[in-house]
Amino acid sequence: MTALPRHLLPDNSFVAPGGRLAVGGCDVIDLADEFGTPLFVYDEAMMRARCREAVAAFPDGAAYATKAFMCIAMARLAHEEGMTLDVATGGEIYIALAAGVPADRLVFHGNNKSVAELRMALEAGVGRIVIDSFEEIERLEQLVAGGLARPTVMIRVNPGVEAHTHEFLQTGVHDSKFGISIVDNSAIRAIARARDSFDFAGVHAHIGSQVFDVQSFERAIGVLGEFVAPIEIEELSIGGGLGVAYVEGETAPTITEWGVAVRRAVAAAGIEANVTAEPGRAIVAQSAITLYTVGIIKEIPGVRTYVSVDGGMSDNPRPILYGSGYEAFLPRGTDDDRPMHIRVVGKHCESGDVVIWDGTLSEDLVVGDILATPVTGAYGHSMGSNYNMVIRPPVVFVRDGVAKQVVRRETYDDLLARDFGVD
Ligand SMILES: *Cc1c(COP(=O)(O)O)cnc(C)c1O
Repeated sequence: MTALPRHLLPDNSFVAPGGRLAVGGCDVIDLADEFGTPLFVYDEAMMRARCREAVAAFPDGAAYATKAFMCIAMARLAHEEGMTLDVATGGEIYIALAAGVPADRLVFHGNNKSVAELRMALEAGVGRIVIDSFEEIERLEQLVAGGLARPTVMIRVNPGVEAHTHEFLQTGVHDSKFGISIVDNSAIRAIARARDSFDFAGVHAHIGSQVFDVQSFERAIGVLGEFVAPIEIEELSIGGGLGVAYVEGETAPTITEWGVAVRRAVAAAGIEANVTAEPGRAIVAQSAITLYTVGIIKEIPGVRTYVSVDGGMSDNPRPILYGSGYEAFLPRGTDDDRPMHIRVVGKHCESGDVVIWDGTLSEDLVVGDILATPVTGAYGHSMGSNYNMVIRPPVVFVRDGVAKQVVRRETYDDLLARDFGVD
């Protein structure tokens, strides 16, 4: 019913008299005209502020989890603001290095790093490799035996803690593909072997994503405290996972509050180590909005009104993957009441291709309107696809009235770029 809660908009938003929205000093409907839709618009100053907040909250080290949103401009931004980068594949390493981020600022994650990816990481000289299995230890030992430099490593342990979040987003339960279990002494054996074979830095745990309560982190740290008490570690990384508000009524701790709670729990658990963290979502999610053009409005009397936009699961798969909720609003009337119940859907040939399952919008909605969804900066662009051969949207960073295109829109020729065709 009510207007869009302003706190879901990027920090540097301004609503002009009459209701038009500007982000970073740029009128967003003008941006849609200039760059087309769908379009990702990121508030650059807000992302920089969030990076600085993370570095202040975790002075021993804060890594930006690049999987949340990655491109050269983003890697450079996080690096410039003092964060290291969490990368989990050869591709993410490649982009980070292409951005000019020094390899020693990279933390390499992943539950199935190939020999080729590990070689790439060792040759580049990544700062940390976070080991996820005994098989990985063996792969690394062989690469070192073959003449590559001994890496600095951490062991990713599985604390067996259930974070309060979507089942698919839980990573710290005992039954998980991630980490080495502390429950059956595997983690202790892995650490002993890592000390022998490599430079051992410490322990890493990541309990999940979109976690709203700091108590989940505190419980994990409590479990880790008992585990690390008898062993000496230089660093404890508590991973990422801090949640953000997506829709009206949700609230999440700030990065600063998270840092305070984590460091207090670490002290209470008697852990003496540098405390590091790896936020992804909390750095970028609320910095961006997505702009779409309304194409079709279909009212099914007595059922609901479907609003079709020119994107969908190819630019935001979170609703179809997790049933995630979003808000919608019209940036020509940002503060308008939204009494009309609608479902916003994409253009893909899939009933689950939904942007907003149960949303509300103002009643004067017409075909051709620019429709915006806030809080789309994380796991949208980075999880995008070419399903239905839909071309992926561009990314624009806005700041102080200047819009900088950092990723261009795909073209139909891009769709053919890897296709050999027939001869
Ligand atoms: C996904 C992930 C993160 C970041 O998670 P967010 O929920 O985006 O903060 C950090 N560390 C690891 C190991 C991850 O897998």
